Amino acid sequence: MSTLEIRDLHVSVETDQGEEKPILRGIDLTINTDEIHAIMGPNGSGKSTLAYSIAGHPGYIIKQGSVKLDGEELLDKPADVRARAGLFLAMQYPVEIPGVTVSNFLRTAKTAIDGKAPRLRDWLREVKGSMKELRMSDDFLERNVNENFSGGEKKRHEILQMELLKPKFAILDETDSGLDVDALRIVSEGVNRVREANHTGLLLITHYTRILRYIKPQFVHVIVKGRVAEEGGPELAVRLEDEGYDRFLDPNEALV
Ligand code: ADP
Ligand code: MG
Ligand code: MG
Repeated sequence: MSTLEIRDLHVSVETDQGEEKPILRGIDLTINTDEIHAIMGPNGSGKSTLAYSIAGHPGYIIKQGSVKLDGEELLDKPADVRARAGLFLAMQYPVEIPGVTVSNFLRTAKTAIDGKAPRLRDWLREVKGSMKELRMSDDFLERNVNENFSGGEKKRHEILQMELLKPKFAILDETDSGLDVDALRIVSEGVNRVREANHTGLLLITHYTRILRYIKPQFVHVIVKGRVAEEGGPELAVRLEDEGYDRFLDPNEALV
């Protein structure tokens, strides 16, 4: 078993005016492999900031706290070292990489994570097997990463990476956004299958509850204004489905 432990994490961003704006104000979270945690919360509450901070995006300023994987501090390490340690982030808005095919991208990522290139024939069999499960055609391998991908294609591509890279912990940031019902089901089934096979610890970030009908969290954490406002089990997600986030928000405060 592995453990990802986030303690008293405070994170700021630099605004366009060059000022530091505090976003996360003391997040505590412990997640073990084989567990599913849902991070929920209103728009702008800091969910993506949490995801990027854990993964090591250089644009976020860590003010305080720690993020440890099996006791080892990650916050002083760059994103690629964290990925090799077993972290994976599926971004809310995956970036286009013009001129790089999916095929090359996946193989380069696998080589970087494992420290050696996979054997070509085994690798292709593995990639194509995974793509078939995700209902992707082989043509996909020759397309440029995320260029003109539909919402469903972007999310399938993220789950494909998760299956091939086999992280200990995967952070899925709004993997449900932009998916229709059928794509949501296929992507969710892919996440469940990969997670079970590899005992992945999942941090499933979502604003809406609908993905939680397919991927069942044992723990639900609600983040509001950069703090964990409430925690519970699956029943908390059901309550949020009925009530929304109103009770967490000040009715007189601007939302954006
Ligand atoms: P969520 O994912 O929960 O919707 P985010 O983590 O994306 O929230 O954003 C949290 C808050 O930080 C939002 O209010 C957002 O506008 C603000 N924010 C993020 N990046 C910047 C930035 N570079 N400059 C100013 N505000 C930012
Ligand atoms: Mg948002
Ligand atoms: Mg977000």
